[in-house]
Amino acid sequence: MSAALVTGASRGIGRGIAIALAGAGFDVVVNYASNLAAAEDTAKEIEKLGARAVLVRADVGDAEDRARLVHEAHEAFGTLDLLVNNAGVAPSVRADLLEATEESFDRLVGINLKGPYFLTQQVARRMVDAGTAGKIVTISSMSAYTASVNRGDYCVTKAGLGMMTKLFAARLAEHGITVFEVRPGIIATDMTGAVQAKYDKLILSDGITPIRRWGTPGDVGRAVVAIATDLLPFSTGQVIDVDGGFHLRTL
Ligand code: NAP
Repeated sequence: MSAALVTGASRGIGRGIAIALAGAGFDVVVNYASNLAAAEDTAKEIEKLGARAVLVRADVGDAEDRARLVHEAHEAFGTLDLLVNNAGVAPSVRADLLEATEESFDRLVGINLKGPYFLTQQVARRMVDAGTAGKIVTISSMSAYTASVNRGDYCVTKAGLGMMTKLFAARLAEHGITVFEVRPGIIATDMTGAVQAKYDKLILSDGITPIRRWGTPGDVGRAVVAIATDLLPFSTGQVIDVDGGFHLRTL
């Protein structure tokens, strides 16, 4: 069995990725922030597929927690073949660019950007030391290039993940480690639950996405499995849009 660490795997997209990986033969470290019951549900789904699941509570925005997460992941499975940086948060309040606070900016940068940056650094060091031809996948967003003026802090963190992916891809290729950015579009999870009516209209009536449906965590999971199972062996630093075609410009 190969081993994967998926951050924020208790709910939503992270859970979808963890279950898809289990179906593809990965044991999974299920990281979560606070929702133990949800993490246990993810673990049950993984175990039903014949894979092992280990739960680790850790705040990816906290340096000590990140170090413990990496340590416990290696204690559990001996090695890591795949890191999926998925954990992320939206601003607590969608505030206009001229009103939004530094507090919200710092929170989002800490969890969405600094966390994955230094978690990737730590896992990559271990992969290099172990000679593991590993893979690193970061879940950014269509917000990496779409300006939403009521959540600028979120957009900035997701754009930053794009450069993070390029940097680690360039640095790690010589070690046989490939690095990818997956950009989900509008995916049905708790994060988008609060704006469901708005997106129902945009997707189903207005046709904002050429493929007129909500995305699912399983859609993102399948893209990650394609990377994890080495279906893209001569690619690195690549962006994969999982967005129903949102990124297309049509006229
Ligand atoms: P979600 O339903 O709100 O789930 C968030 C997950 O991240 C939960 O498992 C949560 O753990 C965990 N988490 C939150 N803060 C954390 C922290 N500080 N440390 C560790 N884990 C933490 O979100 P989602 O919609 O699945 O989003 C997952 C990722 O996809 C995020 O990076 C998000 O920005 C990105 N994304 C989402 C969409 C979308 O439409 N939903 C679109 C594009 C990109 P607990 O259960 O313990 O709280």
